[in-house]
Amino acid sequence: MDDKQLLRYSRHILLPQISYEGQEKLIQSHVLIVGTGGLGSPAAMYLAAAGVGKLTINDFDEVELTNLQRQIIHETGSIGFNKAISARKALEKLNPEVKIEAIENRLSITDLDKTISDVDIVLDCSDNFETRYNINRLCKKNKKPLVSGAAISFEGQVCVFDFRKLDSPCYACLFPDDGSENSMRCADNGVFSPLVGIIGATQAAEALKVLMGIGEALTGKLMLLDALTMEWRSIKFAKDYGCKVCNRPYDK
Ligand SMILES: [Zn+2]
Repeated sequence: MDDKQLLRYSRHILLPQISYEGQEKLIQSHVLIVGTGGLGSPAAMYLAAAGVGKLTINDFDEVELTNLQRQIIHETGSIGFNKAISARKALEKLNPEVKIEAIENRLSITDLDKTISDVDIVLDCSDNFETRYNINRLCKKNKKPLVSGAAISFEGQVCVFDFRKLDSPCYACLFPDDGSENSMRCADNGVFSPLVGIIGATQAAEALKVLMGIGEALTGKLMLLDALTMEWRSIKFAKDYGCKVCNRPYDK
């Protein structure tokens, strides 16, 4: 780290749990964020501000006026532009030290697989079950930790799957894929603006902890937030040995 970096990250370096060594690990890290909507906005901003060396962000949507109530990485002037490109612009302004790779098309399974294999950790900030199941399966296949988040109405959830460990449960152990697409999306439903900020920032916090190997990540624990009462609940869960994803041949 040069003098400017030491100054920029000084309030991290002052923390004994992080110190110079932890910050150096962040600078060496590469994170994939799928989705730069409500969750991806704060997650990407905190990861960039915190000094993660490289961020790959993927979103094929365009910024719309209805997004701006909660997707704080985008601004009014970005309406009509691709979200990954809009996010990259904001992140480069926030911290020019960070390398930002913006992927503005919908990734095929093969490309998503390749992208995941290149990073240290994945943040699922998407808004649909199909993407969530694909990311889960490919993170498991590539043995990459996954920080999953979701938010709708006044309710949010966060969970970490550390696929570097063989006995790790997966997203499908928790929410089995029964083939029915019953996802509630912000596009069709309401969502409380700061709720996505709380959940996205929590995803960023978990990712930083996993990257530095500090504290205890939310592995095997699903955190549920009711923003109306501001109460968090945590539910412990284990691997489901009947899970279709965990039993796929190439994953063994
Ligand atoms: Zn599973």
